[in-house]
Amino acid sequence: MSLTRGTVYFTHSIFFFSDSCYNAYINNPFSNLFLNTLTMELFMIERFSVYSSCTLCHHRCGVDRTSGKLGRCRVPADLYIARAALHYWEEPCISGDCGSGTVFFSGCNLGCVFCQNHSIAKADIGRKVSVARLSEIFLELQAKGAANINLVTPTHYVPSIAEALKMAKTDGLTIPIVYNTGGYESVETLRLLDGLVDIYLPDFKYMDTRLSARYSHAPDYPEVAKAALAEMYRQVGDPKFLEPPANLDRETSDATLSADRDDEPNSLMKKGIIVRHLALPGCEDDSRAVLRYLYETYGDHIYISIMNQYTPLPHVAAYPELNRRITDEEYDRLTDYAVELGIENGFIQEGETAEESFIPEFDYEGV
Ligand code: SF4
Repeated sequence: MSLTRGTVYFTHSIFFFSDSCYNAYINNPFSNLFLNTLTMELFMIERFSVYSSCTLCHHRCGVDRTSGKLGRCRVPADLYIARAALHYWEEPCISGDCGSGTVFFSGCNLGCVFCQNHSIAKADIGRKVSVARLSEIFLELQAKGAANINLVTPTHYVPSIAEALKMAKTDGLTIPIVYNTGGYESVETLRLLDGLVDIYLPDFKYMDTRLSARYSHAPDYPEVAKAALAEMYRQVGDPKFLEPPANLDRETSDATLSADRDDEPNSLMKKGIIVRHLALPGCEDDSRAVLRYLYETYGDHIYISIMNQYTPLPHVAAYPELNRRITDEEYDRLTDYAVELGIENGFIQEGETAEESFIPEFDYEGV
């Protein structure tokens, strides 16, 4: 194999190897330094190629995000992040006692009208970071004691995230990786994460295409989410748990999510799937259909998290039916239904979870 400084042709684009890659080759073409540098540069070429005609999610916009054009997710190819910090309000087996190392990415490929993280979903907030900086952020969160790395709304950045994860794992990242998504994923994009992600944490928002069209502008959401979930299960399989670290005893708040299993209340998940369903006002029948589908398809091979924390924010004014929280009675009926179905691996929310205070401040902490 020979490498010269200069031009490389790859899927209709022209790229240059960097000086550092060239110098590493000149010094020793068989060194790990050269091979690692070359690998990273090939990842970069691949990433550039994907973003230049983006079909990362099922919207398949086909726009050139490397030239600043925007698709439905509203962000170019550069990584934008709003916050990277320990977060205590996920399911107990994700947050643990020490907190989940959440990284909130700007932009969103769904843009639901009721979004609870509206400001970052619209990409109004976000600081540009490099892939190398993202890799450092993962390691910094691990050093702070994070139970895992929790990638929040990552779909539109998968090639960059995969590259950053590979760099961080080479540099000592060992905690589980959580992929926290709205569920509107393409199977091809998920395959880029095979072997990199340990826990999938997707939403399953709707079974009714009229609801997915009205609230997420994605009439095909149910079918897309079903195929994505099948791929996630193929990759990570049944749930597996770690024993919690013995030296951590931070008390959990009354308002955290609670598992309905009490045999392993603080055990951290190390592999598996938790599917979240946010109960929306006026959508009780559809919520039941979601639970039925999940349980009839996956039984206790996945966990199901039934959430009551929906909070109407000012931007739902055009959807008056969404301008209220769900009542305790509605939530109780839904959780009773889950029990009737036979769901055992589940989480329900207790206490005053439907508060805006659960929406974190996007203040660039840790970015
Ligand atoms: S990731 Fe963004 S630009 Fe790419 S297909 Fe999805 S919405 Fe469109």
